[in-house]
Amino acid sequence: MAVAHRAPAVSRVPPRPASPQRTVRTAYRGRMDDSSALARLDRRVADCRACPRLVEWREEVARTKRAAFADWTYWGRPVPGFGPADARLAIIGLAPAAHGGNRTGRMFTGDRSGDVLYQALYDVGLASQPTSVSADDGLELYGVRITAPVHCAPPANKPTPGERDTCRPWLVQELRLLRPTLRAVVVLGAFGWQAALPAFAEAGWTVPRPRPAFAHGTRVALDGLDLFGCFHVSQRNTFTGRLTADMLREVLRTAAEAAGLP
Ligand code: SF4
Repeated sequence: MAVAHRAPAVSRVPPRPASPQRTVRTAYRGRMDDSSALARLDRRVADCRACPRLVEWREEVARTKRAAFADWTYWGRPVPGFGPADARLAIIGLAPAAHGGNRTGRMFTGDRSGDVLYQALYDVGLASQPTSVSADDGLELYGVRITAPVHCAPPANKPTPGERDTCRPWLVQELRLLRPTLRAVVVLGAFGWQAALPAFAEAGWTVPRPRPAFAHGTRVALDGLDLFGCFHVSQRNTFTGRLTADMLREVLRTAAEAAGLP
């Protein structure tokens, strides 16, 4: 049965919630200390309107909805990263899905890609439950932070290079804040890989030149950080068997070991 979700009301030009800080705190309760620098960054991300095309799209989708989610109030805003401020492992995807993260307000939550990712995280002991259906479903990640180089749902899941570049400062700031504890990163797909490498460089890591190419299973050592490539958990990859559950678990296990997670 569909569960009505209490996300902020969204309109074409959404009025700012009376207290955006309180709204986001509620959505991410239990994930981290709300006063942390990362929590403050998340709140700023959720208020961003820097990309006109993506702002229009995310709000249009939130207003028109998919019939199956007609009883939901869509998030319809940028989706911040999800996971603790002292994460040792990060997972970097592409961008929120129109009816997934853009609906629920949490990364990879409420869509098929997220079903695959969170099941695998649970299987290898990095998540408290195998499902991720809404921002208030109680899911916790253990030492893992999930984020994306683009925080708004793009049409056809394809941000433009300009939108990717406009969003990069958010990822750079997030990586800088995670840096004291971050020891490994899994990047899902070539888009995320190409977007993440400059962000790592801007955040202070030494990234080899020429930049290493994306491949599933590739592993690159930056200074103090192991970077892993993994095919994206998109339906196109998982339905065709290009990425199997075993392959995903293997990358996550290896990355967790590199990060020093139990
Ligand atoms: S994609 Fe990033 S930079 Fe563009 S509006 Fe969304 S949060 Fe802001």
